[in-house]
Amino acid sequence: MNPSILLIYTGGTIGMKQDPATGHLVPFDFSQILDEVPEISRFGYHIDTCSFDPVIDSSDARPEFWARIAHTVEANYEKYDGFVVLHGTDTMSYSASALSYMLEGLEKSVVFTGSQLPIGVLRTDGRENLISAIEIAAARDSSGKPMVPEVCVCFENKLYRGNRTTKQNSENFTAFSSPNYPALAEIGIHIKYDLNAIHHPAPEEGPFSVHTETDTSVAILKIFPGMTENYVRSVLSAPGLRAVVLETFGSGNAPSFPWFLGMLKECTSRGVVVVNVTQCQAGSVDMGTYANGAILEQAGVIGGRDITTESALTKLFCLLGRCDDSETVKKWMSEPLRGEISRK
Ligand code: ASP
Repeated sequence: MNPSILLIYTGGTIGMKQDPATGHLVPFDFSQILDEVPEISRFGYHIDTCSFDPVIDSSDARPEFWARIAHTVEANYEKYDGFVVLHGTDTMSYSASALSYMLEGLEKSVVFTGSQLPIGVLRTDGRENLISAIEIAAARDSSGKPMVPEVCVCFENKLYRGNRTTKQNSENFTAFSSPNYPALAEIGIHIKYDLNAIHHPAPEEGPFSVHTETDTSVAILKIFPGMTENYVRSVLSAPGLRAVVLETFGSGNAPSFPWFLGMLKECTSRGVVVVNVTQCQAGSVDMGTYANGAILEQAGVIGGRDITTESALTKLFCLLGRCDDSETVKKWMSEPLRGEISRK
């Protein structure tokens, strides 16, 4: 039987047009997207579309919006073989990461894509991205099961695990990278899948289920030479704070100033989960390498290894939404749940 795919349009440049009055890009009626790419009917797949109302610029993405995407997949899970989510590029890595945690036991492809140029523009990258995403969402392995049972990002000529991606360029068509994990597929004349890189749900995830509870009482604290006590205090003393993504230097190093370590210690002893991720574009945190990393461990900070900031943040949102106990959150932050951290 021909594969059936649900195309979920949430917004983003791919479906925008220039407003003649203001000159700004604004979303337009989704039905026109398929008019712009009539060739997708040549796949012979059954393709249905559904559009969010209103569609958004992905800068407006929030957990409620991720929950809507998750529930749309849930409501249609049995009916379709795969899902393509059309989404703005600005926060696509956050959304794909969040969805990877919200969808447990996922056995079908949920492929995020979008574009840097609107689909109606002659040189658009949207047409190619959309066509590749549909083909990947419909792909099956030799046993007839979905080839990539993951939340992924298909962009330019690569397919990436969603929770490993980051938006790296605001102008190039190569908008995304996956600094610490190989591509799941290379998209050229053929789509070449890296079967060893593809994640399959762990047995403990159980059958497909959706968990959209979140708690956003999380801060990102980026350290920098010259940061002041007031700056750090204002972040760490935010009312109701439950977790912090601490963006450190290199392999997880931070200043050794007593006031800084004191504030961190005070914070972790209140039960706030502090996760150390690197500011570097690639690589891993290892707090055992330098004395300036080890002191963070002594202050109760946990290592996020090679997780991206986007993935650490959304993972915390989801874990905090599901459990009250910070020790449990710490435990799960140190373990890969959906392939977001490399195993030691
Ligand atoms: N601002 C747009 C968005 O993220 C940019 C894009 O789609 O590329 O919705």
